Amino acid sequence: MAPKIYDFPKDSRPLSTWLQEMQGHHLMNHRTTPELPIKADIVIIGSGLTGTTVAKHCIETWPEKKIVVLEAREFCSGATGRNAGHCKPDQWRGFKEYEHDFGTEQALKVSMDRKLISCHHHEHGQPDDLMIKILGNEQQTWSSVVDYVRSSKVDCELWVGDTLDVPITREAADEARDTYNGYKAAGGKVDHIKVINDPVEATKVSRIKDAEACYAWSASTVHPWKLSAHVMSENLQRGVNLQTRTMVTQVVKSNKQLGSWIVETSRGDIECAQVVHATNAYSPALEPSLRGLIKPTPHMCNLVVPPVSFIGCKSLKNSYGILLSEGGLITINPRKPTHGPVLFGGSNPGQAAFYRWLEKNPERATDDDIAGFPSVTEAVQDFTRTQLIDWPEVVAKDYAREWSGIIAMVSIIWPMM
Ligand SMILES: Cc1cc2nc3c(=O)[nH]c(=O)nc-3n(C[C@H](O)[C@H](O)[C@H](O)COP(=O)(O)OP(=O)(O)OC[C@H]3O[C@@H](n4cnc5c(N)ncnc54)[C@H](O)[C@@H]3O)c2cc1C
Repeated sequence: MAPKIYDFPKDSRPLSTWLQEMQGHHLMNHRTTPELPIKADIVIIGSGLTGTTVAKHCIETWPEKKIVVLEAREFCSGATGRNAGHCKPDQWRGFKEYEHDFGTEQALKVSMDRKLISCHHHEHGQPDDLMIKILGNEQQTWSSVVDYVRSSKVDCELWVGDTLDVPITREAADEARDTYNGYKAAGGKVDHIKVINDPVEATKVSRIKDAEACYAWSASTVHPWKLSAHVMSENLQRGVNLQTRTMVTQVVKSNKQLGSWIVETSRGDIECAQVVHATNAYSPALEPSLRGLIKPTPHMCNLVVPPVSFIGCKSLKNSYGILLSEGGLITINPRKPTHGPVLFGGSNPGQAAFYRWLEKNPERATDDDIAGFPSVTEAVQDFTRTQLIDWPEVVAKDYAREWSGIIAMVSIIWPMM
């Protein structure tokens, strides 16, 4: 039998730091009605940030519609509940790739400046043509998230501050400089990006020993589960029905009603007019046409207890993207930038061994219970010890908290809708 790289969600431990601390929350195993509804207008499969915000959009747009969200496990127990909590809009780093794939004009739209967007929004009151064209824009998403969190007073540990992109090899610095200059020359807005090209100054500002340069702009960190839970709580108040621990096993066309769907679940069927698959890395298990397009790919997250030289007034004050040669990336997200633990994610040099292991163990591609992978953790230890100025020798127990989650990799660099 062919190895199953496509599979349905499974119960998984260890939990992420976010899921661990929210285990007692009433949304975890919420069922709005004890029985599964048998009819709905819209069924949304998945309760991560995608399913939750799609439900928000639907109930705000069509308040009269009956909307049901189905979640196989606990509320928001997929990648959203297991990620690194970094909300960082790419400004220029992806420009070369976007330009290569889609041409200069489209690449610029993706990287369009937030000021331009908000100015159009204010002048016209309504999103105009330009807005529609650039809805996928990372900067707009970030500023919308921050606006929403602030205006709705969402308790999700929002931090807003400078994120630093720091190349630490000459090759990574050359690549960053070329991409940044290419973006600027093509008319991309860069006035809000602070650039330091002097390695000595970059090291001083970033606290990274081998910093070759430093690019800074605004970004955020959040508690992703709390953010999703707030949105879902608002949805429930507006009439959305959430059913956790309800696995969707198949979606088929109804043979009774033209244009209707039957969503088959572990607890019975729902007939509906529209189905939204917000199932991320699990999508190909349910929707065979996505096999070969979406590749479930586990990623690790490491939570590190900082040493005394990195607490209080000496704690990291920024989030980071450490740029390595050949596209390697270490993301650093101090959970509470004044005193808390520090999250490490991205694709560090230990990731290659992890991918080789996954090739030999393809059935683990949809397991989010990988409790740490030695080469990934060692790369985090190595980085902190060798690159963070004044970080002392590694104490293994301070690196003991690790978990995995699954990213839906696609063959193109864009999210798939
Ligand atoms: C370790 C890690 C670190 C990351 N770090 C960051 C970061 O710092 N910043 C960032 O922006 N992004 C990060 N990401 C990516 C980000 O987390 C995801 O892109 C995002 O959370 C996807 O949200 P989603 O709602 O689409 O999917 P998910 O959150 O995965 O939700 C999908 C849900 O669908 C449910 N489901 C699937 N199939 C079925 C079915 N058949 N029936 C019922 N329910 C089903 C699942 O149980 C799951 O709860 C990271 C990802 C990982 C894994």
